[in-house]
Amino acid sequence: MKELVKKIKILISDVDGVLTDGGLYYNDEGKVFKKFNVQDGLGIKLAQMAGLEIVIITGLKSEAVKARIKQLGITEYYEGFLKKDHLIKKISKEKKLKFEEMAYLGDDWVDGPAMKLVGLPMAVKNSQPEIKKIAKWISQKKGGEGALREAINFILSMQGKLEQLWEKWLKQEF
Ligand SMILES: [Mg+2]
Repeated sequence: MKELVKKIKILISDVDGVLTDGGLYYNDEGKVFKKFNVQDGLGIKLAQMAGLEIVIITGLKSEAVKARIKQLGITEYYEGFLKKDHLIKKISKEKKLKFEEMAYLGDDWVDGPAMKLVGLPMAVKNSQPEIKKIAKWISQKKGGEGALREAINFILSMQGKLEQLWEKWLKQEF
């Protein structure tokens, strides 16, 4: 596992059911609200500091998600992509990354083809059973409860970067 994780340079994450609990709250005007976890937010910042690139992809289009992504300083955000494996191939070509250098965190069938491609397929605890079967790592936390933070911590820890980051953080060397 360690050898596999050491190669990872980029973590691609789904949104609904991973960054959120999958809930879609509709108001009377038909507007959708979603809840994000603040610990995932800091995790994304930590990953960026440690040189682990975070890419967010979602099959849906949502202004709420866009706003959150912007707030987190994520520049790589792809929305309305149902064929996520196509996007993985595109990212691999553009960034000259091998599939084995990529991790993907998902929860549902739409993530399956993309997870089959990458070196480190990851699933949240409450993923669909087929997705859990593909995954080489499963979070203890459910989607929306800090599962992305857990995935980031796992990768950074396996790469020997988490402890250093924490030391730096305590000394406020950023
Ligand atoms: Mg999902």
